Amino acid sequence: MNLILMGPPGAGKGTQADLLVKRFGIPHVSTGDMFREAIKNGTALGLKAKSFMDAGGLVPDEVTIGIVRERLQKEDCRPGFLLDGFPRTAVQAEALRQLLDDLGIKLDAVVDIKVNRENLVKRLSGRLVCRQCGFTYNTETSPPARVGVCDRCQGEVYQRSDDVGSTVEKRLSVYEEQTAPLVDYYAKAGLLKNIDGEQEVDKVFADIMQALPVV
Ligand code: AMP
Repeated sequence: MNLILMGPPGAGKGTQADLLVKRFGIPHVSTGDMFREAIKNGTALGLKAKSFMDAGGLVPDEVTIGIVRERLQKEDCRPGFLLDGFPRTAVQAEALRQLLDDLGIKLDAVVDIKVNRENLVKRLSGRLVCRQCGFTYNTETSPPARVGVCDRCQGEVYQRSDDVGSTVEKRLSVYEEQTAPLVDYYAKAGLLKNIDGEQEVDKVFADIMQALPVV
């Protein structure tokens, strides 16, 4: 299964991605996670990405396309992959089309999770993430049992530096301007599956499963 998961920041892509990769046994290819890992490890890629991420902007296309090209050619992507957070611009979508063409890979579906802006702001500004396992919490609706400690793995729970105030607004605007138009692009290609992301996690997952083609 070769999938793209789209939707604005805070739509629940990470949560649904975890469920989907378990169900299909495919790798979760998240450009945001790759950049955060690079920053944590202090690599050259991390240094390049950090200032763009902290400002709520996008990392330049050539850098992002480069890491996805390398990742999708790894052996573990043979049975399929779930792209999360890529493509985010028209240039990235075109580069991906070319890359998949070159590799002889066909996309099966593009899932677009929709949530209204007011709820996105609430979700993002209350979001907490486990540094170890990546599980997400919300300070208002689903806090961890012990402040700062993950219920699942006892890892440290923290707030992402780009989940604050004006950076949240900036990321949502960048999404609307640069990424939302890609929804049309994939609709025209006949690949788009629209999903209501305002529902409970399990219901969103069930809707995605029902929308996916049988491969
Ligand atoms: P995410 O975890 O998907 O919300 O991504 C966090 C941040 O990483 C974004 O706000 C961007 O700064 C950067 N990023 C992730 N994916 C991309 C991408 N496909 N193109 C450019 N920047 C990206």
